[in-house]
Amino acid sequence: MGQEYPGEGKPLSGQVAIVTGASRGIGRAIALSLAAAGARVIVNYHRAQAEAEHVASQCRALADAALAVQADVAHPNEVSRLMSAATALGAPSILVNNAGIAWSGLFQETPWQVWQQLIGVNLTGVYLCTQAVLPYMLRAEYGRIINIASVWGLSGGACEAAYSASKGGVIALTRALAKELGRTGITVNAVAPGAVATDMTATLDAQDATQLLNEIPVGRIGTPEEVAHCVRFLALPASSYLTGQVLSPNGGLVT
Ligand code: NAP
Repeated sequence: MGQEYPGEGKPLSGQVAIVTGASRGIGRAIALSLAAAGARVIVNYHRAQAEAEHVASQCRALADAALAVQADVAHPNEVSRLMSAATALGAPSILVNNAGIAWSGLFQETPWQVWQQLIGVNLTGVYLCTQAVLPYMLRAEYGRIINIASVWGLSGGACEAAYSASKGGVIALTRALAKELGRTGITVNAVAPGAVATDMTATLDAQDATQLLNEIPVGRIGTPEEVAHCVRFLALPASSYLTGQVLSPNGGLVT
């Protein structure tokens, strides 16, 4: 892969990127940003087929190919099917583990099923997708794995213990795998956003939203595009000396 300067035309052309949970929110912005950089994007989704097909068609307008593929990232068989479908566009060289779910409530009242679901999608999903994509990257001696964590995975969030644990796990997995894969040409990094305007944060009640805004030094919540910008940067061939790192677009909330 040639070196290039960030901001140059289509630095990812010829590459295949898988973005999990790309039908909406942050994943959608990541898919569009990578397509704008020239990548062929696999737009994974769980339930929102129409939205995912729309994102894929927007990606096709930016790059030469894109495909929407349904799969629940928490299940091994579905992830195998996702990888088989993805290779229709070529061997994947970029994986963005973005699919995620949240739940708020007291730790004492967190149902076992909720715990299982959060760890299943947010952490096991990263394990499954990464394991499935690695043979292609190892063969190519090149890859970019970018895991979407959260500031709560760094600092812990009250009434978000299960979510924080799942994202803390993602950060530890990122750091460990970066070391294990250090000499393979594959980098593994995490992006840990603060509060971002998506369906996930739309459920905050007015009081919690105001309190959160007061705590963010830049005085606003982030956009999906501001997170996608970080992901695109890490996905570039030139970001080759960055591995095991956590980049946190959070408006100064956690430093
Ligand atoms: P969102 O708007 O709720 O979108 C979630 C996406 O994940 C959707 O595309 C959804 O697919 C997909 N998804 C959910 N469960 C899935 C599964 N089992 N298999 C495959 N895909 C699945 O969320 P978001 O705010 O964009 O969050 C994206 C990522 O950023 C998550 O990992 C989240 O934890 C992280 N994050 C978000 C914020 C924030 O403030 N929004 C902050 C920090 C970190 P369907 O549409 O098909 O259901």
